[in-house]
Amino acid sequence: MQIDVRNLTYIYSEKSKDLAVKAVDDVSLFIDEGIFGIIGHTGSGKSTFIQHLNGLLKVQKNRGRITVGEFDLTDKKCDFKKLRAKVGMVFQYPEYQLFAETVKEDVAFALKNFYPELTEQEKEERVKTALLTVGLNYNEVKDKSPFELSGGQKRRVAIAGVIAAKPEILVLDEPVAGLDPKGKREFIELIQRLRKSVVKTVVLVSHDMNLISEFCDRAAVFSHGKIYTRGTPEEVFENAGDIVGLGLEVPLVVKLKNALKDKGVKLNCGVKRSDFIDAVAAKFGGEARK
Ligand code: ADP
Ligand code: MG
Repeated sequence: MQIDVRNLTYIYSEKSKDLAVKAVDDVSLFIDEGIFGIIGHTGSGKSTFIQHLNGLLKVQKNRGRITVGEFDLTDKKCDFKKLRAKVGMVFQYPEYQLFAETVKEDVAFALKNFYPELTEQEKEERVKTALLTVGLNYNEVKDKSPFELSGGQKRRVAIAGVIAAKPEILVLDEPVAGLDPKGKREFIELIQRLRKSVVKTVVLVSHDMNLISEFCDRAAVFSHGKIYTRGTPEEVFENAGDIVGLGLEVPLVVKLKNALKDKGVKLNCGVKRSDFIDAVAAKFGGEARK
């Protein structure tokens, strides 16, 4: 399923002269299968933009068009319930949205809503598979209260609840915010696994530029409601100065490449860590061994 957004504008509190905010300003973006990163400073419109992708925010009248696969979100007849089963959304700090008495019930919640025709056994199978997919032991956690779990586990339960509905697209808003480095790493591995085995497309909103440069196939940079630049991570981070000018960090690999360039060492490599290490090894390997 491809996401095609054309000329989307979204204004909050549009009726109030003083309070109106143009959060998204004439944005067109095509998102194909793979991992797509969305970056930008706080308040640049990222969350507002992605909340359109499953119809949580509706396209305002005459303010653009969105299609997701066969769904035309601007069509009055669009079946938003079906769309939401296909486009799973994991909000920032999803652990705060758990509410059921047991993990099992929490994961089954959306499933019941999307697929009321499933039998109890089918539902249980799906819940079990979803929990296993996110790396939790079903028998160990199913009857626990979500509140007994660690922060990282809670986040996994929230994701299990979304993937139990078998979406094709998974949208994650700042999924690693607040996690320690180890938690971050594990979580990224989980996202990659999901991308390989469960969903075709991941839309990843993040402040973490290392994450974007390392794992995304393509990315877009938001600034003041508009798209400042887009492309492969190499293209996006090509002009590091521009990224810094937008108040964003530059990935470590880009910083290192540029520092070496300033010393007269030009490396012809991408922005992934492994590419960088290979390029350094190729350049200095011989000398280093002497
Ligand atoms: P980001 O996710 O990039 O931080 P948001 O989409 O949350 O950006 O916000 C974009 C702009 O819209 C900001 O100026 C923000 O203050 C404003 N905004 C976000 N949510 C609301 C809301 N519910 N009501 C009014 N203004 C909002
Ligand atoms: Mg946000």
